[in-house]
Amino acid sequence: MTTDGPTYGFDTLQIHAGARPDPATGARQTPIYQTTAYVFRDAEHAAALFNLQEVGFIYSRLTNPTIAVLQERIATLEGGVGAVCCSSGHAAQIMALFPLMQPGMNVVASTRLYGGTVTQFSQTIKRFGWSATFVDFDDLDAVKAAIDDNTRAVFCESIANPGGYITDLDAVGKIANDAGLPLVVDNTSATPYLCRPIEHGATLVVHSTTKYLTGNGTVTGGCVVDTGTFDWSASDKFPSLSQPEPAYHGLKFHETFGPLAYTFHGIAIGLRDLGMTMNPQAAHYTLMGIETLSLRMQRHVENAEKIAAWLENDPRIDFVTYAGLPSSPYSDRMKTICPKGAGALFTVGVKGGYDACVKLVNTLEIFSHVANLGDARSLIIHAASTTHRQLTPDQQEAAGAAPNVVRISIGIEDADDLIDDLDRALAAACG
Ligand SMILES: *Cc1c(COP(=O)(O)O)cnc(C)c1O
Repeated sequence: MTTDGPTYGFDTLQIHAGARPDPATGARQTPIYQTTAYVFRDAEHAAALFNLQEVGFIYSRLTNPTIAVLQERIATLEGGVGAVCCSSGHAAQIMALFPLMQPGMNVVASTRLYGGTVTQFSQTIKRFGWSATFVDFDDLDAVKAAIDDNTRAVFCESIANPGGYITDLDAVGKIANDAGLPLVVDNTSATPYLCRPIEHGATLVVHSTTKYLTGNGTVTGGCVVDTGTFDWSASDKFPSLSQPEPAYHGLKFHETFGPLAYTFHGIAIGLRDLGMTMNPQAAHYTLMGIETLSLRMQRHVENAEKIAAWLENDPRIDFVTYAGLPSSPYSDRMKTICPKGAGALFTVGVKGGYDACVKLVNTLEIFSHVANLGDARSLIIHAASTTHRQLTPDQQEAAGAAPNVVRISIGIEDADDLIDDLDRALAAACG
């Protein structure tokens, strides 16, 4: 099917967007094109491909038919014009910033981010000469004040990891837009089923497809989606997209490719030279996962709402940070940003502190103690004794990983079984 018309609903598009019967065999399911290279029709065809005068397949570091289907599917579900898949969510973040940044430039980022992103932005990107300024995105004046002449992007998560916080994307999008900057939104925890950041002012959307999009904890992957609407030539801030590219005989990406400039740059420069390529097996697993995305997200949300409400009323629990609870300070924002639900990820404060949390994760049977989220299985992690154990107690507290806090990713099992599991383990943990 073609996906040109916006007439199809989400459930249809999650199965069909980007996919057609295989032209060679008629295979109905998208084949895994397990090939490194593609034979050119003739020398002229090869030259046209290498000059970017014709779109086609050259080498699987850049493009692959299985991955192309996934790119088109995610772009369609997000309402973008194009997407570039890569090897992980973290790769997607570097790929997203790469066309925008240069040494000395900065990104203004929310303080509420996935822990690995905080490390990537506060430490690793410095090696490229980039930097991040972290601010509280609820303080819109602070966001405005943090933007300076060297800012090239504004970055946040829609429903922020580890849950319980929803970003006012419309307000932040307006600030970015007024400053002539793209808003980049990590939509991993929400997925396009619960939130479509482009409708709230985002220019670019990034994903860790490792999580809900694949949905079964099998492969890592990432994706960068572009709206195609940002005017890269409106200022001199984005020379990689607006100025002649020496690696392509002076071609100007924005002038030549219009709305597809950013996506083509991601493939022709980003994947070609950084090489953070997704493999076709991973694309296959993620395509399988996306076919049931809406059904899974409905169940994730339904279960998370039930379990968060049960936990909130349990005397062994101090607090539950789930934006889907009526008691959450973000429940109003949820109604505009992600009206179908606040996802399935939240933190829980356990009375009894560190020792009770350790006993809890040791005693649970259905919940797995792992450093992952967004799986069909329910997962739990005690950050203070694992991912955040190198931090001081003060740093742990600031990161939402205090000794008495566990992060829970609710799966799609029977909610009653999950509640029974938590009830038994809390009894053991809290005595
Ligand atoms: C997991 C995650 C990432 C990183 O993705 P990987 O696929 O693990 O590299 C980035 N952002 C969020 C919100 C995540 O949950």
